[in-house]
Amino acid sequence: MPDSDINLEGKNLNKSYVDKGKKLQVLKDVSFFLKNGEILGIVGESGSGKSTLLRLVTCLEKPDSGNLYYKGTEYTGKSPAFAGTFLQMIFQDAQMSFDPRMKMKKAVVEAAKGCGHEKLSRILEAVGLDESLLEKKAGSMSGGQCQRMSIARALCSDAGILLCDEATSALDVTTQAQVVALLQQLRKKEGVSIIFVSHDIALVSMLCDRIMVMKNGECVEEGETGKVLGNPQHWYTRELLDNLIE
Ligand code: ADP
Ligand code: MG
Repeated sequence: MPDSDINLEGKNLNKSYVDKGKKLQVLKDVSFFLKNGEILGIVGESGSGKSTLLRLVTCLEKPDSGNLYYKGTEYTGKSPAFAGTFLQMIFQDAQMSFDPRMKMKKAVVEAAKGCGHEKLSRILEAVGLDESLLEKKAGSMSGGQCQRMSIARALCSDAGILLCDEATSALDVTTQAQVVALLQQLRKKEGVSIIFVSHDIALVSMLCDRIMVMKNGECVEEGETGKVLGNPQHWYTRELLDNLIE
């Protein structure tokens, strides 16, 4: 695989917190890569360090050591605003990520400076939302509509990479399936690359090209979805899959 295929990369990332005077090593030498147009799933139980990894990738926090690269250029230690030019985060609670007093129109266009009407229309269509929703506020929309709107906001910003942190975990099963289908379609049509973080291995295996399994701050297994599911190498991955079948 030529390196030019790689969009985003993290190498040997370490992160610790001090909690009640004790040092807690939350990420241990974690490396990952994301190829252009790929959907990478990161799966692992609660507390395994998935959100911390995304906070490092978005520059919301700095790694203790290790390096981050976008299209081969290092961006470790840069600002969240800098990282925001090429990646956008989508959170579990989309409703909370909007100002409740602000109309969607303002919230979306403000976040995506320079997003013209034509582009906005195309994106709203891609995420399956009617333009009339732009006149609404977050509180008067459903959870699924808010999540679609937060994806639309991210796409308007021209960021080619979406980071989804438990982005569908708060949604009912039907809406979850719709958002998952939407992400697949966006990858195909718009060429976005996606990191999809979830504790739900069933969901991740449906959506993702490649899976990374995390446990206690370490990446214990990584590979193509079919290979990892068909022939898991680590006992923890087997355990996740066994729980799925039961
Ligand atoms: P996940 O997203 O996989 O559930 P997190 O990255 O949120 O895991 O958390 C990993 C570990 O780091 C947990 O043990 C959590 O309590 C701890 N942690 C996360 N953020 C902080 C923080 N700011 N201070 C102290 N400990 C933290
Ligand atoms: Mg988390």
